[in-house]
Amino acid sequence: MDIVDLRSDTVTQPTPAMRDAMAKAEVGDDVYGEDPTINHLQELAAGLVGQEAGLFVPSGTMGNLVAVLAHCQRGDEVILGNKAHTFLFEAGGISALGGVHSCQLPNQEDGTLELNAIEAAIRPDDPHHPVTRLIALENTHNRCGGVALTPEYMLAVSNLAHRHNLRLHLDGARLFNAAVAQGVPARDLAAMTDSVTFCLSKGLSAPVGSVLCGSHAFIHQAHRIRKQLGGGMRQAGILAAAGIVALETMIDRLAEDHRRARALADGLRQIPGLELDPGTPYTNMVFLNLTREAGETQAAQHGGVSPAGRVAARLAEHGVRVGVAGSRRFRLVTHCWVNDAHIQRTLAGFQAVMAAG
Ligand SMILES: *Cc1c(COP(=O)(O)O)cnc(C)c1O
Repeated sequence: MDIVDLRSDTVTQPTPAMRDAMAKAEVGDDVYGEDPTINHLQELAAGLVGQEAGLFVPSGTMGNLVAVLAHCQRGDEVILGNKAHTFLFEAGGISALGGVHSCQLPNQEDGTLELNAIEAAIRPDDPHHPVTRLIALENTHNRCGGVALTPEYMLAVSNLAHRHNLRLHLDGARLFNAAVAQGVPARDLAAMTDSVTFCLSKGLSAPVGSVLCGSHAFIHQAHRIRKQLGGGMRQAGILAAAGIVALETMIDRLAEDHRRARALADGLRQIPGLELDPGTPYTNMVFLNLTREAGETQAAQHGGVSPAGRVAARLAEHGVRVGVAGSRRFRLVTHCWVNDAHIQRTLAGFQAVMAAG
């Protein structure tokens, strides 16, 4: 039985076309700027997001870190959401390695930061305060259920930032999901930013890598910082080749992942003991909880393991792996290795496990 792995879209394996392109990739020393495949990927990426230049980096985390370090000096402040990936899940890198202070504003349910709240958080020119330098947004917003920020909102924050002489960075790990879900080109969500990163290794299915994009001047500086962080890679065109296939062939099909996430949510909603988040799914993520009663039933069966952990273990016996996001909470992510039959198997698995109590 093949496994249905819904834990994340990071589990996606390179496609046969990617492996083929990787085997044939022309490469050179990228630290010298001589890898033609990386150069091609970077140009392609920059064009798609409406920026001048791109920089291939090993991970989304490094893309965000390089961007923050390029925009900010030590002691400067970045305004970001309290549910931002950069704040929660990047090991505090911006402060640990960059000495960059963060001001966390509450993320609204739609993934936004209130414009008034951003404006109110900008520091006065006063020696008691850090210098506000940067605003960082996330699109789609992972911790807000994979919700997509709109082009109008992106533009409003960009205008606000530039009116106050601040920079705007976008963590667009799943930028193309946001674009496809709204039927707009990615550049409509990213051209107004001062920097944007997106992951090749999530729904786009490449094995490794992200691209950081911005102006020529910004990328020039980012290039040095990437080296400083140990992210200068050599014949990494082998990896970039898969990224090119990802950008050329894997963007439009994200709509299928969104459709399957909806089918999954519609099925799960019918199963007693499960409670889906209102609005879910926005893109390729379904968030749900065990009801309190179902959680207690599960907990009674097994001391020590959380109710969601127990259900996940039972689902694994049906060949279905799900993400546990809290003691009663799950995250299920669709991607190109999940097909319609897998959705049916997942629903059957949940049905069986919940009925067994
Ligand atoms: C996955 C992710 C990242 C980091 O990407 P890695 O390649 O795992 O380091 C950054 N931001 C968001 C929103 C993500 O989902």
